[in-house]
Amino acid sequence: MSSGSAIRGSRIGSSPMRPDERSEPAPRREVTYWCAAGHEMDVRFAADVAPPETWDCTRCGQPAGLDRANPPGRMRAEPYKSHLAYVKERRSDADGEAILAEALAKVRRRRGE
Ligand SMILES: [Zn+2]
Repeated sequence: MSSGSAIRGSRIGSSPMRPDERSEPAPRREVTYWCAAGHEMDVRFAADVAPPETWDCTRCGQPAGLDRANPPGRMRAEPYKSHLAYVKERRSDADGEAILAEALAKVRRRRGE
């Protein structure tokens, strides 16, 4: 048995490094996002990529959106409603009072009254 099988080793002649293709910068566009806190930031994307609908605010970390008047993370421009207000909407006044009394009792207990 002679070692007649000649497996040719394919030599890697050229290095796998890519040639430098930085002769022309990729086209980019700037997209402006606004967060609920009113922060404004410009984010650059490649022109052929659709910008995401939300982007984390670089200043406060909240999600920021493309619509300045309606940033994500907050429900429109509704006035702030307490949890109790929502509860009251769903329940009768009597139930609401009972819940309120219960909540007050809890608070008092926590304060050690
Ligand atoms: Zn922000």
